[in-house]
Amino acid sequence: MEKYPKNKPENQWKEELDDLQYHVLRNKGTERPFTGEYDKHYDEGTYSCAGCGHELFQSEQKYNSGCGWPAFWGELESAEIEQVRDTSHGMIRTELVCSKCGGHLGHIFNDGPPPSGKRYCINSVSLKFNPNA
Ligand code: FE
Repeated sequence: MEKYPKNKPENQWKEELDDLQYHVLRNKGTERPFTGEYDKHYDEGTYSCAGCGHELFQSEQKYNSGCGWPAFWGELESAEIEQVRDTSHGMIRTELVCSKCGGHLGHIFNDGPPPSGKRYCINSVSLKFNPNA
């Protein structure tokens, strides 16, 4: 059985996502820092996975880390974002993966603000913002 219920054949992802989204979400790429649509974005609403629409974060969980990518100190309880050990690029990091479609979101670090101490470092192109009504 497919581990990710909203996964799709590779050619379908390629067709539906733009080039940068495909590179980041499906091939674990990274957008250039300080270029993302949501890096300095603090409107009220929720952020869902750009691949499958699964809700991941709410604006109250977002903060300005200065790192060049959207940063969150926590996730929605229902998001159940998957954490995967990542040893690529000569580093040991923890990758964040959408639990519904398997899309790469970013990485999580332990240098976030209290009380969680977590920094979810997320690519803007992996997210879609949904403003509060
Ligand atoms: Fe997803």
